[in-house]
Amino acid sequence: MNILDIQNLLYIVAAFLFYLGIKGLTHPRTAVAGNLKGLAGMLLAMTIAMLAFQGDKSVWQGWYWIGGGVFIGSLIGWIAAKKVQMTAMPEMVALFNGSGGLASMLVAGAVFHHLTHIAGLQETINAAITDGISPMSQAAILDKGQPLQTFIATVASGIIGAITFTGSILAYYKLQGKFGNSSTNPLLKIGNILFLAISLGLGVLLVIKPELTWVFWAVVAAAMLCGVFFVMPIGGADMPVVLALLNSYSGIAACATGFVINNTVLIVAGAFVGASGLILTKIMCVAMNRSLTNVLFGVMAEVGVGPSADEVYAGKIKSTSPDEVAMIMDGVQRVCIVPGYGMAVSQSQHVVRDISDFLTEKDVEVTFGIHPVAGRMPGHMNVLLAEADVSYDQLHEMDTVNQYISQVDVCIVLGANDVVNPEARTNPKSAIAGMPIIDVDKAHTVVVVKRSLSPGFAGIPNPLFAMDNTLMMFGDGKKVMLELLKALKEN
Ligand code: NDP
Repeated sequence: MNILDIQNLLYIVAAFLFYLGIKGLTHPRTAVAGNLKGLAGMLLAMTIAMLAFQGDKSVWQGWYWIGGGVFIGSLIGWIAAKKVQMTAMPEMVALFNGSGGLASMLVAGAVFHHLTHIAGLQETINAAITDGISPMSQAAILDKGQPLQTFIATVASGIIGAITFTGSILAYYKLQGKFGNSSTNPLLKIGNILFLAISLGLGVLLVIKPELTWVFWAVVAAAMLCGVFFVMPIGGADMPVVLALLNSYSGIAACATGFVINNTVLIVAGAFVGASGLILTKIMCVAMNRSLTNVLFGVMAEVGVGPSADEVYAGKIKSTSPDEVAMIMDGVQRVCIVPGYGMAVSQSQHVVRDISDFLTEKDVEVTFGIHPVAGRMPGHMNVLLAEADVSYDQLHEMDTVNQYISQVDVCIVLGANDVVNPEARTNPKSAIAGMPIIDVDKAHTVVVVKRSLSPGFAGIPNPLFAMDNTLMMFGDGKKVMLELLKALKEN
């Protein structure tokens, strides 16, 4: 067994740890242990990478470059994880996706540059063909014919990494509300397809004539523009699908770079991220009622001009108080709480748990209705409620809740808006048309907790607030729920 066999064996151990990590993350109870296993796998992979390159200092300039990168990256990650608010997690995920795409693209570009420019293309190919072993024994060129595979993988990494990078940066600004919402401007779709075609065409040229090193950067530039035009038309309630897709792209880019540098663990880890990101995209598509093909080609629903907030709300809003709601809840049998982004902003998950415990003690059946895209990241509500020790048995998915919602006495909508907007069912031109929602409007009484009549992420009015069976309890989620708990106890 030589050093390369040992290295590959340890890489398989690291990949297995990644697998255990992802498996652990599928349930809140095993998530922390899963995270630690993933961390251990990453540590092992980085250590092996450093050890392996020590013998090849002339090419890779020693372990201290990798160690330095690991240190700086870990420091940035640690500070970001400490500072970021739960409500800003999606933006952070977008930035991480973008960084992954950029890193994959740059590594592939650097190796390609080395192969074709610094080492000299012809020498590299000759070395690969005559010796079978090149100066980059642990990196790129090991077998005869390897350059073609390397060049194809380089182009794939350059294109996908660049699209992921600019697409994610734009998604970051869109999530912050600093960039326009959805748009059906056909020029954006044309731009997307045009720049994708240019980058693919240049990519083919690069594979045929790899000595034209500048073409790699032209491929990257065209793909970067493609990424901008890809995300530009998408906005509103479709953002979760885009985030999941970009996450998948970052994995595929890493996988391609793994082929460029012949690194088993990067290929496996990239494939994990790429595949799980695609599965998540599929889940998000089902949740948003979009087809994957439409998302892949940036074809989103045609959005019409809906009614204005004044038209929807004028003279129809009934506001209520915690005391009044406590009275309504006296003697009820079934309560369903539907949380949304506002619960995350107000951090009201703990007081909600207290209300749930209080009512349960009084023999009221309390459940939580979880919409797959409530909040700003997949699983957002589950994470918050798990943090507050709400029993998993009380958390019901949208389809389950919709089966019994008509028998619920009081439905408390806590900081949710788009995910309970009946427009999705009734207005085919709405920005959220066709998106499955939790049908809270079918409950006997609906109490909506939010600060104002402002729209949610999709930016459209919500006719739920003006319905006969809806009462608006205005105020910050935590403050209002604390007052409700007090009123329930005093009642
Ligand atoms: P929405 O964004 O539709 O609505 C949230 C509501 O919370 C707002 O109307 C706001 O009203 C209210 N709110 C904000 N702060 C507070 C507070 N302190 N106290 C009480 N209420 C508050 O959230 P939903 O969860 O219903 O829907 C999620 C939306 O985000 C969907 O459109 C989804 O597509 C999108 N999205 C989801 C992602 C995911 O992965 N889950 C990722 C990206 C986007 P007010 O200001 O009046 O208080």
